[in-house]
Amino acid sequence: MSVRGGLPGKIIDACLSMNRSGLNQGTAGNISCRYEDGMLITPSGIAYDQMDESDIVFVHDNGGYENGKVPSSEWRFHQIIYQTRSDLNAVVHNHALFSTVLAIMNKAIPAIHYMIAAAGGKDIPCVPYATYGTRELSGHVAAGFSKCNAILMQHHGMTAAGKTLGKAMWLAEEVETLSKLYVNLLQTGLEIPLLPDDEIDVVVGKFKGYGLREKD
Ligand SMILES: [Zn+2]
Repeated sequence: MSVRGGLPGKIIDACLSMNRSGLNQGTAGNISCRYEDGMLITPSGIAYDQMDESDIVFVHDNGGYENGKVPSSEWRFHQIIYQTRSDLNAVVHNHALFSTVLAIMNKAIPAIHYMIAAAGGKDIPCVPYATYGTRELSGHVAAGFSKCNAILMQHHGMTAAGKTLGKAMWLAEEVETLSKLYVNLLQTGLEIPLLPDDEIDVVVGKFKGYGLREKD
């Protein structure tokens, strides 16, 4: 039987794929999965290509964690997503280039493309800045996730979540693609046309039935 449902291995694979795709900048990103009464999360200060399954840290819902291990300094906002959204089981966070450009400018991504609906709403909000690792930042993240499954974080980066790790990774890639489109559109200096709210509602409904298919 695999250790901890095979989740540590899947988390490491997702980290390596985040580096390969260019989503991550250095070791800035972190990934977690809901597990038992808490979550499994990437450790603090270990390069992804040096990480093995025993380095992945279990953090209990009460904030306690395994002796001798140190979770990512950003574990608090992962935890609050699991506490406030029982339908989400995996969280992916990174400082991807175009998402972070928009986050620095405090710009939510509006309905420039129908794929905005992949995050479950009419836009992808940018939540206010607070120091990393703080309860204040967790509060902003929880408020953002009350409306959709992905957010930008002012002067920081982006976070996406999903029912499975595969879905959270897929959404993180989509957020970065939408960010890239929006940054390019802003550079034209022209008025940017947006899709109407009722069309986004239609696409959100379609994604509920036909989202990413995966074997899990
Ligand atoms: Zn970060």
